Amino acid sequence: MKLVRRSGWGAPATSAAAYMASARGVKVHYLGSPYASRGHQLCDDYVRKIRAEHLANPTENYSDIAYNMLVCEHGTVYEGRGAHKRTGANGNAALNRQDYAVCALLGSSGLTEPTDAMLNGIRDAIEYLRREGDAGNWIGGHRDGYATACPGNPLYAWVQRGAPRPSPGKPPAPPVPPKENDMAIAKLTEQNQLDVELPDGVWTGLAFAGDSPAVIHAGPRVLVGPTYVQLTFASDTAPDATVTGRFYLTNPDGVSGESGYGDIGPLRASGGVQFLHNINVPAGKHLRFKVRIGTSDGTPVLLTHRTVTGDYAT
Ligand SMILES: [Zn+2]
Ligand SMILES: [Zn+2]
Repeated sequence: MKLVRRSGWGAPATSAAAYMASARGVKVHYLGSPYASRGHQLCDDYVRKIRAEHLANPTENYSDIAYNMLVCEHGTVYEGRGAHKRTGANGNAALNRQDYAVCALLGSSGLTEPTDAMLNGIRDAIEYLRREGDAGNWIGGHRDGYATACPGNPLYAWVQRGAPRPSPGKPPAPPVPPKENDMAIAKLTEQNQLDVELPDGVWTGLAFAGDSPAVIHAGPRVLVGPTYVQLTFASDTAPDATVTGRFYLTNPDGVSGESGYGDIGPLRASGGVQFLHNINVPAGKHLRFKVRIGTSDGTPVLLTHRTVTGDYAT
């Protein structure tokens, strides 16, 4: 079982969800939204995105990501609320007390057929919840007892067969390494128009999309063209205000293993600035960006718009 604990993907080590002594069994879920197949280095970004969306959901008032466990197409199991925690995903309070919830990173369009690795991972998660969370032997889908299409027909058909391991005794096929000339070029374009007040003399990390704060590229990623960060400041920014930028790498938790590239600047802030980066991002690292403002009188500067663009290949 390839298990990533909460602390390994950037959640607080223990979930705030209610304790649950045991469960009848496990309900299997899918995302129910479009989802594209992706490199494994991006899977934990998506788990963080789900948690952020659940925490931001005012209707459900979630205390944490709703699922007990999540499984990506590569078979890795991410600890959600974990064992002995009541789920928030099964539809209502009674259903949440009855069964645990395991969510496959599988979409209603895009990636809709579970891979063998994913099925093995879901099975791993079910067995883990039986072993560590006193789950009973019942296995079902979200649609059992609740009006929903979840977990989608392909996955539900497997659940109805009793969620068997896809190829018992047979080792999974080794991954085929991509050939150099198979590299696909993709475009990175993310922007954020939330105003942010940057204090004088302090390094501040910037996020460019709603999720995964401050991640620009997750390694391994080959930047085949330059990556540009563009910043626009409020029109009343002091003419002598400056901005210094720094691209840097961290481990996926965003905190540890920080290594910086050289500072760029100080540049004049008024009128907007552009920063350029074109270095490959190694495996297991995230490329991020931060800025530091300099003013003569210590006034903060208001950042009104930020964009990151570029071509890349993975
Ligand atoms: Zn569901
Ligand atoms: Zn994955």
